[in-house]
Amino acid sequence: MRIARVVPEVSLDRAFDYAIPAAFDTQVTLGAKVRVPFKSRSLVGYVVDFPTDPHTGKLREIEEVLSSRAFLPAALIELAQWMAQYYCAPLTNALLSVLPKAVRHADAAFKQRLWVEALVKTIPEEAAAALKRAKAQLAAWHFLEESGPGWLADLSRESGIGTAAWNGLAERQLIAIESRTQDRDPFQNAPVAESQTRLANAEQIAALTIVREEIGAKKPRVVLLHGVTGSGKTEVYLQAIAHVLSLGKTALVLVPEIALTPQTVEHFRARFVGQKVGVAVLHSHLSSGERHDQWQHIRAGRARIVIGARSAVFAPLDNLGLIVVDEEHEHSYKQEETPHYHARDVAVMRGHLERVAVLLGSATPSLESFHHAREGKYRLAELRQRVEEFQMPVIHVLDIRSKSKNEPPTLLAPKLVEAIKARLDRHEQAIIFLNRRGYSSSLQCPQCGYVEECPNCSVTLTFHRRANRLRCHLCDFARPAPDACPVCGFAPFKHAGVGTEKVEDALAAAFPTARIERMDADTMRGKDAYAKTLGAFGEGKIDILVGTQMIAKGLHFPRVTCVGVINADLALQIPDFRASERVFQLLMQVSGRSGRGAVRGEVFVQTRAPFHPAIQFARHHDYAGFVEQELEFRGKLHYPPFERFILITARGRSEEKTQFVLDNLAKELERLNLPATEIAGPAPAPIARMDERYRFQIFLRTHRITAVTPRLRPLFMDRQWPDDIRVTIDVDPVDLL
Ligand code: ADP
Ligand code: ZN
Repeated sequence: MRIARVVPEVSLDRAFDYAIPAAFDTQVTLGAKVRVPFKSRSLVGYVVDFPTDPHTGKLREIEEVLSSRAFLPAALIELAQWMAQYYCAPLTNALLSVLPKAVRHADAAFKQRLWVEALVKTIPEEAAAALKRAKAQLAAWHFLEESGPGWLADLSRESGIGTAAWNGLAERQLIAIESRTQDRDPFQNAPVAESQTRLANAEQIAALTIVREEIGAKKPRVVLLHGVTGSGKTEVYLQAIAHVLSLGKTALVLVPEIALTPQTVEHFRARFVGQKVGVAVLHSHLSSGERHDQWQHIRAGRARIVIGARSAVFAPLDNLGLIVVDEEHEHSYKQEETPHYHARDVAVMRGHLERVAVLLGSATPSLESFHHAREGKYRLAELRQRVEEFQMPVIHVLDIRSKSKNEPPTLLAPKLVEAIKARLDRHEQAIIFLNRRGYSSSLQCPQCGYVEECPNCSVTLTFHRRANRLRCHLCDFARPAPDACPVCGFAPFKHAGVGTEKVEDALAAAFPTARIERMDADTMRGKDAYAKTLGAFGEGKIDILVGTQMIAKGLHFPRVTCVGVINADLALQIPDFRASERVFQLLMQVSGRSGRGAVRGEVFVQTRAPFHPAIQFARHHDYAGFVEQELEFRGKLHYPPFERFILITARGRSEEKTQFVLDNLAKELERLNLPATEIAGPAPAPIARMDERYRFQIFLRTHRITAVTPRLRPLFMDRQWPDDIRVTIDVDPVDLL
């Protein structure tokens, strides 16, 4: 009798062996979805292996085969196994993150609906007489004649004729009502016009040559495409994909969630719409039904191009020819739950396992990827020029430090105001960027210095003026803003720092006739709000767009010739070794929004740290200069990319117990004698309290990551931590707070 190793849907790091009943023998393949007995329950699980070593003891039997063909491709099983090892996560969690919930669900299926079609062209005479007495049926018939075949529910809603009449027509064999699959297609009502391939310029051709070589290679290497903003990276992706399709293969494109705008998706659909290859989209705004249908289409080979955010790296494409990771430096590729995978790194591993070329693109590649390229592990392709000789924008650094103690802080520097005014006069557009939502960062009492803090988290509350509330941006706690200081009674409270709302108000005061819109997590709560505002901006119905990160990425608006950055150095104050890198990347991204048309753009960066290297290198568009200095600094301090970090975090309601758990864990770690590894901590996390929980961290820094994670992993698997304490492990963390 054959034996199957099955990972059931429970959070354990184990696979269990089951006997395959003879009746199911041919159906149980690798990746099959089965139902198995588990303790006193019955669970869905996935077949991950067929162990040959005879198992002693009596095995229980597989109860049912839920999907006979391989539900999960073997390549993805292998990828999940790698993830579980590398990220020290339970195998089940790794497998479950590979399979979207929408398809795991026990009754996940295509949607079946009733479809109505006429069986005859005209009503035969003998029926006509009978129908005269059945008025509703006759009306239904005429309605169908008019509208043509359709879903029963729609026909009956639109006509106002109940289902009884339709069933009557079916009984008379005048119409057929049958069950059909309705595809929940997110593009249903969105036809696109085909876009033509552009004539690639010399730099694009050189980049494409490299990518093609790797696509054709036996063991493809990763290609890093470093192209300044507006240099036509997307065109390189599109032509590389076209090449892959011509070889009969499929392509996967990852973009950061935030950049997965209708604009981006349309770009891809428009190029391939004539080829009938099927473009599927996977992102978090799809309904569960849409996600199920998209996944199944991909699995069945009906979609040969997939575009999606982070988790789309697991799209079940067969016969992959290319994986593109756009904006590879983006931190949103990192998964915040277990397993804490980085989609870019998973893409690279998937490429390695499936022998597929991987193309990483960015205007500001991460130091990790750049380091690999410099060491010769990745191939480097560069686009140094913007297309059509559009020039890089001029970047002005505006020093907004107060000259004297009594001078009020500058919100909008005169130079920026002047520049916006000039744009409005010329009917061009401006984008004003700020890293923080809300009105002002916090309320501080001018008399006693009291600052309102979140009762659950160790951060200050942000004032939202429209709602007149104080809100925590970590846990969403909110309460009405007090008029006077709750400690000393002084009124009014003074606003410290600035947020998007306040900037919007200041702009409205400076430019009373301008059309101003704000884009941040507060105004963009609705599902379509984002697309709508961007659409209006693209049509020139908005003059000034104010917003957070949300507007920094990938947008292409040729009429934007002015970009303002309100406070560039806020992010520099974050206690994270990547703070400089982030600020540099952000400034380059933001300034990339300016001057993407015939008029040269200008960027105004307001800062209190005008000489900070991140700001100075950004000012000169000097990526090479920045990375050289930053890599030297990272090297000296033994930071990534030279060494790797592992962050262990414990969270709990009791400060002492939480620390105690980590103290003990630190001792266990010391006893492991990990090679080339330093252990620091436990220490309180930079955000020492969040969501009513105290947070402590242990930092591991190692030269030998692949030797270390397999030794660490057993400490965390199937382990019960005391009380309500949660311990997580994050390999290659991007969020150190
Ligand atoms: P990036 O992603 O590098 O910032 P995009 O791919 O958005 O740049 O390209 C900027 C603009 O240039 C787009 O409108 C694109 O259609 C156009 N473009 C790209 N390649 C060419 C080309 N070879 N000739 C003319 N226009 C091009
Ligand atoms: Zn909070």
